[in-house]
Parts: sequence; C-alpha cells; structure tokens
Amino acid sequence: MRLVFLGPPGAGKGTHAQILVEDYEVPQISTGDMLREAIRRGTPTGKKAQECMDKGMLVPDDVVIALVKERLGHDDAHKGFILDGFPRTPDQGASLDAMLAELGMPLDMVCYFKTSQATVVRRLSGRWICSQCGKNYNVVNFRPKTAGICDTCGAKLIQRPDDQEETIKKRLAIYEEQTAPLIGYYRNKGILAEVSGDLEVKPLDAAIRMAFSARTAGKAN
Ligand code: AMP
Repeated sequence: MRLVFLGPPGAGKGTHAQILVEDYEVPQISTGDMLREAIRRGTPTGKKAQECMDKGMLVPDDVVIALVKERLGHDDAHKGFILDGFPRTPDQGASLDAMLAELGMPLDMVCYFKTSQATVVRRLSGRWICSQCGKNYNVVNFRPKTAGICDTCGAKLIQRPDDQEETIKKRLAIYEEQTAPLIGYYRNKGILAEVSGDLEVKPLDAAIRMAFSARTAGKAN
C-alpha cells in the first residue's frame, strides 16, 4: 500500500491514516507530525519550521522534502506507506515522483478528501492532539476513552496553536492556492480517487478501503 492522502486541513487525513496503518502494517508518514516532533525536540529543522507553522504558513519545500526523503529510506517504508500532508505544493509533488522513481516504488493511489469549508472549520476547532505522541482526537467524532487523556500513551491532550480561527482561515487559503493544484496533477496521472471528507469516520473509512481495493483490483486485471 503506497498512498498519498490529499485534502484540506481538517478533512480527516490524519485520523484515517491512523486507522488504516493498524490493518495494513505500513507507516503513516505525516510531515506535520514530524515537524511538531522536531519542534518538541528543539532540532535545527524544528527551529526553521516553528515560525511558519505558528502563522499557518507552509514550511519551505526543501525542509519538508529532506524530511520525507530521509523517512522513505527507513526499512519500514519499503512495505508501503501512507503519506499524510505531503506533498502540499507542485514542487513537492515533483520531488516525490523523483524519489519514488529512484526507489522503484510508484504510488498506488492518491486519495483526495473533498471536504466542505463548514466541515473543516467544525473539525479543526474540535481537534485535540496528544502532547507526547501526537495522536489526533476530535470532540465531535473521535473522542478519547477518558476526556483529556491519550488512549495510547496516557499523556495530556492539548489544542494545536495553529487551530485558532484566524490561522485556520489562512491555512485554508494557502491550501486552495498551493495544494489544490495537485488534485489536477494526480488526476492527469490517472491515480486520483475522490472520497467525501464530509462523511463520518466509519463510512469514510469504508469508502477509502473500497477505492483502494478497486484500484488494486484494476491493476491485477
Ligand atoms: P498538518 O499537521 O498536516 O496540518 O501540518 C501542520 C503545519 O505543518 C502546516 O500548516 C505547515 O505549516 C506545516 N507542514 C506540514 N506538512 C507540510 C508540507 N508538506 N509542506 C509545508 N509545510 C508543511
């Protein structure tokens, strides 16, 4: 399984990547999670990224491309991966193609989460993440077993600084301008599958699995 999850912030990419990786045993590669981890650890990458992230802007292409290139070289990524939040610009898309061609691992499918603005705003304002492991929760549709506590590691849940209303608007505008052109790019390559990010967790999970099965069955024929 080699997938890209594409769609606006709040579409459910992280939630559905977390669900699928458990069954398919491939890593979720989330550039947002990797950057937040770099900030927590105070690395040079984290220092470069923090200001852009806090303002809701994209981190420079060279920084995220280097992170993904390094991550795709790990052994666990050879079995497959779900890229969540990367690529986010046409230049990142072209770099990903080059990296995967070099590794001989072409993408199976790009899953585009088509999502209304109302859903995005509702989800982002209800989102909580684990302060330690970064796992995502949502008060609307993906609650932790104990309020405010991560199911996986028991640490405290926090709201992301970039999930404030003004920053959300900026992130959506940047998505439309810089990321949305990738939809046409992958459609032209014939690997785009569209699902509705407005669906609740269970039906959306089913839609993603169905799209993936249809795609892989098509390949086998
Ligand atoms: P996410 O967790 O995917 O919503 O990402 C949070 C923030 O991390 C974004 O608003 C960007 O500032 C930064 N970021 C994550 N992935 C990328 C990427 N592929 N390119 C540039 N910036 C990114």
